[in-house]
Parts: sequence; structure tokens; C-alpha cells
Amino acid sequence: MTERFLRYAVIDTQSDPASPTCPSTAKQKNLGALLARELQEMGIHDAHLDKHGYVYATIPANTDKHVPVICFCSHMDTSPDCTGKDVKPQIVRNYRGGDIVLPADPTQIIRAAEHAALKDQIGNDIITTDGTTLLGADNKAGLAEIMDAAQFLIDNPQVRHGEIKILFTPDEEIGRGVDKADLKKLGADFAYTIDGETAGNIEDETFSADAATITIEGVSTHPGFAKGKMEHAIKIAAAIIDRLPKDTCSPETTEGKHGFLHPIGITGALENATVSLIVRDFTDAGLKEKEALLEGIVKAVMKDFPRSTYRLKVKQQYRNMKQVIDRHPEIIDNAMEAIRRTGLTPVKSSIRGGTDGSRLSFMGLPCPNIFAGQHAFHSRLEWVSVQDMEKATQTIVYLAMVWEERA
Ligand SMILES: [Zn+2]
Repeated sequence: MTERFLRYAVIDTQSDPASPTCPSTAKQKNLGALLARELQEMGIHDAHLDKHGYVYATIPANTDKHVPVICFCSHMDTSPDCTGKDVKPQIVRNYRGGDIVLPADPTQIIRAAEHAALKDQIGNDIITTDGTTLLGADNKAGLAEIMDAAQFLIDNPQVRHGEIKILFTPDEEIGRGVDKADLKKLGADFAYTIDGETAGNIEDETFSADAATITIEGVSTHPGFAKGKMEHAIKIAAAIIDRLPKDTCSPETTEGKHGFLHPIGITGALENATVSLIVRDFTDAGLKEKEALLEGIVKAVMKDFPRSTYRLKVKQQYRNMKQVIDRHPEIIDNAMEAIRRTGLTPVKSSIRGGTDGSRLSFMGLPCPNIFAGQHAFHSRLEWVSVQDMEKATQTIVYLAMVWEERA
């Protein structure tokens, strides 16, 4: 497991949001080609890298039962937020607790006080960087875990399972991970992304997301002759922002199941101004409530500017994948059972964001997210433990078995 993970981690696969191509960076194909070749060498004959940078592979069924086709999915790119060039992984074997100082930059310290998950890693082998790059355990841990599980299933034909599909995607970190995914070709009934954080976790919920745009038209006059006439669009926009809830309903004041209204852009001049916001909640009703709150604020502000006008436009971005996944409770039940069989206690949680899985779910492939073990991702303090990665591999293997047993 360690060797496999390190082999993938040192390949630079950073994606680039400014690039229009797919994959956004050609170097992602270096890893894709390696993965396809390794799958071929395992004896998975249809494994291949396509021209868009996706890897597809099939582990044939070895049972007579009619088992749904399950897909395991991870992404090959790493975040543009932190460099992924010249990654030099370090292994802290048999971690004894305390802070981990990264050798090439001693100002980079994984502090036990700030990384609560470290306390569950005593005795484990923790992989970090040297402090100058990210590690890319997000999501190369997932790749390594799926690859190891594939190897195990091929080597152990006595372990019964239905047809298993493998999908490795580029460009997840820039929100384009499923743009060119060919679900027809994939032919899976259900999927799991292996891209979650803490061992034992399974995530079946994402935010539901809308974008809101307020366009304001004020009243412009020469500033020297403006008394009683001018209605300044920038000041209207500022008044709206100022009246947004401060102690609730914002990203910096909420967690767990609470959503928010969040301004992400403001542009304007005297006559026109535009405020862009994102709206997040776990339910459609919660989104509606926040949008009504926003409209109420805008209307109240506009009362002070009687000759100005506004338009509020709301656009759907994505929806909570739970709406789709709940129609197939066996997806989560089987995953919980698989996690239990590894000796971990399954924990169901929700993601305060969107995932490739939420998009796949609404494209017709229900897809919750299972832990890969990665922590502090998108940063130089990123780490993962070998033991957690092994638990994820076991979860994948048990999951294949549980689907077969229950078919
Ligand atoms: Zn990820």
C-alpha cells in the first residue's frame, strides 16, 4: 500500500482552472497511463485511459447471482491551491503522539492541538510531505486503495462479487471531474467515490446550491448638482450587504447542517451595481427560506431609494445528492455493513459543499462518498496514515462481497 501510494503521490497532477482543455493539464495523463498499465498488468484487460484523461476498467463478476454493477471512483488531479510539483513524502513510522515538524520547512508543523484526528493515529505510520508541497492524498489515497482492492479481488477468486467498475477522473478539484465521464460506457448501477476524510466516515449528503444575482439600477446625476436626486447604486449594494445576517446564515458563523447566504462578488458604478451571492442549505425549503430572506432585505433597502430599481435572479447550481441516494437505501446500508466488517464504527455525515458524487447522482448514477483517510488536504500539512488506507481498501473489498451476498 505504502509503495503504491508513494508511486502515485510523486507524479505532479495539479489541475488548472484557467485551462479550457480536458484534462485541464496534460500531465494528469501521466498518472492515468500508469494506472491503466498497472490495471492491465493485474489482468484487467479492458483497462484504458481515454482521450479526455479518464481511466475505465472492469473486474468481471465471478458469481452466478444477479448483482448490481458497482463502481469505485477517485480523482487523479490535485488542488490548484497548493503546489504539487516535486512532492517528497516522509513517513513517520509508529507515531507516538505530539506535533510533526516537516523537515524541509520547520515552520510547517502538524500540531496535535490543531489536528484532532492525530490522536486516533497512535502506533500508525503517517505519511506527510517535506513541508514544501501538498501531499495529494486527496485523492491519490483513494486511487491506491481502489487499486489495492482490485489486486486483492483478482488474486482471490474465492471472494465472490458481481461486476465491478473502476473510474478514475481528472479535474475534480476544479469542478469539472465528471464533465466528460461516459456513464453509458461505464455501465454501473451505483457508485462510490473514495474521497472522504476520517476512517469510518460515509457521506450521503451534500449542500443544495443556488446562485443569486442582484442587479441594481440607481439614479445618476452630476455630483455637484445631486442633492435630492442622486441614488447611488454602489451605496445601495453596500446597504444590502450590510443588512445580511451577521451572527447566523454566513459561512463564518455556521457549521453542521446550517446553510448560509454568502456574497462572492460585487461590481458597480454610480448608475449600476451587481451583487453576486451563493446560497447553500441541505434542503430545498431551506434554500427558498434564505432566498426569501435575501429578497426581503433587498426590498427593505430599496424603500430608501424610491426611484431606483432592482432585479433578483436565482439560478440552480446543484442539489443535495441525498434526494437521489435515499431512493436506494441499500447503497448506504451495504457501505455501513462493509465499514463495520473492517472493525470501524461507521459514521454517516454530510458534506458542506458539492462533490463529483452529487453530480453523478443527478446524472443517474447514485454515488455517496466513502473515506479515503486523507487529512488537511489542499495544504502543505496534508497527511494520511497507512493503516487508514488499508481500512479503506478492506471497506471496498467487503462492499463488493456484501453486494453479492445480499443479491
Ligand atoms: Zn478530493
